Order: sequence, then structure tokens, then C-alpha cells
Amino acid sequence: MSTCIFCNIVKGSIPSQKVYEDKDFLAFKDINPAAPTHILVIPKKHIARVEETTESDVFMLGRLVFIAKKLASELGLEDGYRLVFNNGKDGGQEVEHIHLHLLGGRSLTWPPG
Ligand code: AMP
Ligand code: ZN
Repeated sequence: MSTCIFCNIVKGSIPSQKVYEDKDFLAFKDINPAAPTHILVIPKKHIARVEETTESDVFMLGRLVFIAKKLASELGLEDGYRLVFNNGKDGGQEVEHIHLHLLGGRSLTWPPG
């Protein structure tokens, strides 16, 4: 998707602060962090949102969580962290390329607004 911000980050045509990359996944710092640590973990393949996933995406969805878990450990979030998928308008999703937020480094309130 040539107009997708995160596809352009995958291609390298938009810069990002990468913290993890493999053949199929990328993780980078959120440009507008909501917590001291705020990482986005994405599949390189364009899928707009959780709602568009199918049974064939189950492994990809699990990998997103597992990569975030490993990064949380590497980044020293031993006091805890939050993993968030925003989905669609009411979910507050702004970027239409599936991404998992990894938030930590401070005590996070619940429920969110
Ligand atoms: P969401 O509201 O779940 O769609 O979250 C999208 C996130 O992407 C927001 O937290 C933005 O700050 C972040 N974001 C948007 N553009 C960029 C970018 N170029 N580099 C890093 N993060 C970005
Ligand atoms: Zn995309």
C-alpha cells in the first residue's frame, strides 16, 4: 500500500527508530509516545486492522504479542507493561496498518478514556 505510513516505514521511505526487525516483522518507537516506553510492533504485510484478520493470520497475531513480550524484557519493563490493539473508529485507530502498542515505564491507569 503506497499511501500507508507503516508500509512506507517498512520500505524505509519514511524514517523510524527501529528496535526490532526480522523477515516478516518490524518494531519501532512511537513518534508521539504515551509512556516512557512506547513501541509499535507491526507485520510487514499490510493488513488494515484486527477486524480484517482471518484464521490464516493467527500465527502473525501471536508473533506480534511474543515479539512485544521479548522487547519488554529487553527494555527492562520488569514492573509491567500494557499491550494494546486499537481497532477502528471507536477503538481510536488512526493508522490503518495493524499494530500492537507496547507501553510501559510508568504506572498506567485503567480503564482508558
Ligand atoms: P493508533 O491510534 O492505534 O492507530 O496508533 C497509531 C500510532 O502511530 C500513534 O500512537 C502515532 O503516534 C503513531 N505514529 C504515527 N505516525 C508515526 C511514525 N511516522 N512513526 C512512528 N509512529 C507513528
Ligand atoms: Zn500498510
